[in-house]
Amino acid sequence: MNLVLLGPPGAGKGTQAKVLNEGLKLPHISTGDILRDSVKSESKFGLEVKKIMESGALVPDDLINKIIEERLSKPDTNKGFILDGFPRTKAQAVKLDEILKNHPAGDIDLVLYFDSTLKVIIDRLSGRLVCRNCGENFHIKNVPPKKEMFCDHCGGELYQRQDDKEDTIKNRIKVYEESISPLVEYYEKQKKIRKINADFSAKEVYEVLTKLFKDEQLL
Ligand code: AMP
Repeated sequence: MNLVLLGPPGAGKGTQAKVLNEGLKLPHISTGDILRDSVKSESKFGLEVKKIMESGALVPDDLINKIIEERLSKPDTNKGFILDGFPRTKAQAVKLDEILKNHPAGDIDLVLYFDSTLKVIIDRLSGRLVCRNCGENFHIKNVPPKKEMFCDHCGGELYQRQDDKEDTIKNRIKVYEESISPLVEYYEKQKKIRKINADFSAKEVYEVLTKLFKDEQLL
């Protein structure tokens, strides 16, 4: 099964992708995570990307397209994959379809469009805490760690992503709103997009997704 998770930052795409990855045993490919790894390396490329990410803007299409092409050439994607945070522009969606023409996993099966209200998004992003070690997400109020600022799973230190600070959040949402319509139209034409109310809890959204996969005969 090949899935694309679409939606604003903070809609819970990453959280669902992780759970789906455990259940479906398909690789979770997050372009945000790949870019954050490059930033950690402190290479010239990493430093350029860091600036872009901290401003809330998008990394140029040609760069991100190359990254995804390389990632999808790895054999673990041959039986399917879960794309989280890619595509983010129509040009990226066109490139993805082009890559998949010659990919063993075939075309995209479903595009899950996580729809969430602004109030919920801002609340989720501004309270989000991420483990430096394993990348697990927590939330100051909604999913607090048992030990303050330490990960329940691996004991790693939790931090607030630089781009989850207030000014950058506003820009990320603006950038998202500017780029989403052509992308939705693109997948509507292909009849692949399914809208999901992502204001619900992670457990409720997961239940909606599994029912959807059954209805679509993908499970
Ligand atoms: P995310 O973790 O998906 O919220 O992504 C964090 C940041 O990485 C975004 O705000 C962008 O700067 C960059 N990014 C991630 N995915 C893409 C993409 N598909 N196209 C362009 N920039 C991206």
